[in-house]
Order: sequence, then C-alpha cells, then structure tokens
Amino acid sequence: MRKLKGQTPNNYRVDGLFGYIELTDKNGLRIGEVKVDKFNLSRIIQAGRWYLHRRKDCTTNHVFGSLWSGGVRREILLHRFLLGDYPNLCIDHINGNGLDNTLSNLCFVTNQQNSEKRFGSDRDSQSGIRGIRWEESRKKWLVRYKKDGKTFNIGRFSQLEDAIQKNNLVRREVFPYNYGDVPIINIMSILNETNVNGPGNRICIWTQGCTKGCKGCFNPESWSNKINTQWTPQALAQYVLSQECDGITISGGDPLEQPEALLKFLRVLHGDGGGESLRADFLPKGIICFTGFLIEELDDGAAAECLEYIDLLIDGRYVEQLRYTSGLAGSSNQRFHFSSLPGRGESRLQRSEILIDQAVEVHIDDIDPSIIRVTGFPSIDRTFLKRHGLRIESDE
Ligand code: SF4
Repeated sequence: MRKLKGQTPNNYRVDGLFGYIELTDKNGLRIGEVKVDKFNLSRIIQAGRWYLHRRKDCTTNHVFGSLWSGGVRREILLHRFLLGDYPNLCIDHINGNGLDNTLSNLCFVTNQQNSEKRFGSDRDSQSGIRGIRWEESRKKWLVRYKKDGKTFNIGRFSQLEDAIQKNNLVRREVFPYNYGDVPIINIMSILNETNVNGPGNRICIWTQGCTKGCKGCFNPESWSNKINTQWTPQALAQYVLSQECDGITISGGDPLEQPEALLKFLRVLHGDGGGESLRADFLPKGIICFTGFLIEELDDGAAAECLEYIDLLIDGRYVEQLRYTSGLAGSSNQRFHFSSLPGRGESRLQRSEILIDQAVEVHIDDIDPSIIRVTGFPSIDRTFLKRHGLRIESDE
C-alpha cells in the first residue's frame, strides 16, 4: 500500500460488500466508523487520513479527509471525494446518516431539494435523524417529510428502530436515488502504477460494458452493461489528478460505448469542465484509448469529440486469427491513430514508444489479497492462466 505523507492511515475492517473505516479523535481514541463500499476502500485509505466532522448547524456528522494532491495538502469531505465537486449541486445522504458513504446512499440534489430533504433534522427532533422527531404529547416518534412545500406525516412509532426503518423506506421512494444530469462512468477496474499498458508509469482504467463480442476477447467480464462501479467524471478526474503518473490508458469493455461520460471526464481532466487544470508536466506520456469501433464509425457526437483529448487511439475489434505476439495491440488488424487534430497539438506519444515488448503484470489487491489482477499484453491465454492456478472470477 502507498505510504501517506507524514500521516498514519486509518484502521479499517471489511465485512461482506462493505468496508468500515475507523475514525479517531486527536488523541487517537476511537469515536466511530464510516461505512463505504468495499470497492472504494482502497482508494479512500490510500488518499489520506480521515476525520469526523461535526458541524454546529447540522445534526448530520460528516467525514473529511486531509489529503495530499500535487504536493499540496487539501481538505475534502468524503462524499465529495467519492462523487466529485459539482458547482450548484449538493450531495445528500439519503438515509440521513453522514457516516454511511456507500454509493447507494449518496445522491446529487439541488439546493432547494437539499433544504426539503433536511426537513425534520433540527436539533430538537431528539432523534438526530432527518425526518424523525419525538412528539412529547403522544410519546411517539413521528416520521414525516416535506416535498413541494407540503408536509406529509407518515406515521407514529413507539420504537425508534421502527421509525428509522419506515423513514428509510419512504425517503428512498420519495427522494429516489439519482445523479440528476451528472453522467456516470461505469468502471470495471482501475489500476495504478502499471508499466505494461503503454510507456511509463500509467493508470489503467477499464470501463464496464462492450457489445462487440469479439471471439477470444481476453476480458469477457467487461462485456456486461450491469453497473459495476459508478464514478462521476469529476471524481474520476480528481482521482487521476491526485496520482503521480506518466500517462493514462483507457480500455475496457469499450470506453467509447460511454461517450458522453468519457468526454466529460476528459474535459474535466484538461480543465475544460470547471475543474482543476491539467498541469503542464502532468501526463507526459499522454492518454491511450482502446476501442472496438473503427475510427470511421466515430465521425460525430461525443465519441468524436473524445478524440480531441486522446493522444493515441487503438481501434478495431479483436480478431483471434490475427493475434499479435508483440506490441500494444491485440491483433494485427487494429490500427494506431496518433493525435493530429487541428488545434490539438502534437501527440505526447511517439510511435517508437509503443513498440514495447508484450509483458504481463500481476497485481495483488491491497485490501483483499485473494483478488489478483493480471494485466498487460500476454503471449498467454486464459487456459494458460488456469493451468497455473490463477482463477478468473467469471469462469467459476
Ligand atoms: S472490443 Fe475489446 S472488450 Fe469488446 S469484445 Fe472486442 S476485444 Fe473484448
């Protein structure tokens, strides 16, 4: 696991699909824990040290981190770290619990929606939970919500646990989980510090979803369009910008089957979307993107616009009979398109740099050592991996 600059990472534990990060006070005494999705645990722990944040004007506890990014320390709320900073949008914890930062408990809301959802969370509610207040006259917990200026009383409960259960059910229905207009990138996996997916030290991002169905595809787990890991373009760009890397490789699945979200990500990364600007010295080895489309099929819309930000596009379906044994492409029909778009400038990559030997890396997951990722351009196939005891999850 990456060392944190002068900081001790938080302790954590894993239970099923979730991770729990321990929060301590300044004396190191445990004061609680925050729940996150297991797939996000590694990047949260590696980003910096996380603390409990109690605001005087709000009953909801929040978690903030003290993180190093590009040599500068900055503070960020955990839910913003996970979903990204979108001006004019708030992030709401659907069940009112700021210590539940699983993605299914977070959604974007406008300021007005946020104030409606905050209804019932005043300090004298005695429950400390949004939507539930104690009625002294009836000696019961009242569950209620406010929408479009109207107040709706849902019911009264003797037990707080019953009120919480009802409150959670109702709020999920009335304030459905959604990301509004913010597009989501469905990601299969992200790997830092890989040296076999292009020149230099790279971040490799595999998107989830591909409809091409190439025979012999090395990554059929990536075909399904079912949501795997949801990232907003902002959060993904913030994450990439916080890493020290020479370049990015975007593969899949087919990244260009999610063109709007990918375009948003590339724009934010380059400072065109109101986010941080790409530093001049950042990504000297550029952006490589694989797609099963032919470049001729990408002649308009968001997919075509994505090309303005990509230094090298490797296009075409994988053809098993034309399998390569050297170089970055999987089969010899796939073509290399170096950026030469007007106004885009020179590609940050040279043809000579991508004539690399085919190689494989084996990465063991920091959080769950039973997860092993094999990446690169192997002169081996899935049968070879199985013979050597490497389990491919979807084969089971
Ligand atoms: S385009 Fe790529 S990910 Fe999609 S099926 Fe073909 S080889 Fe597999």
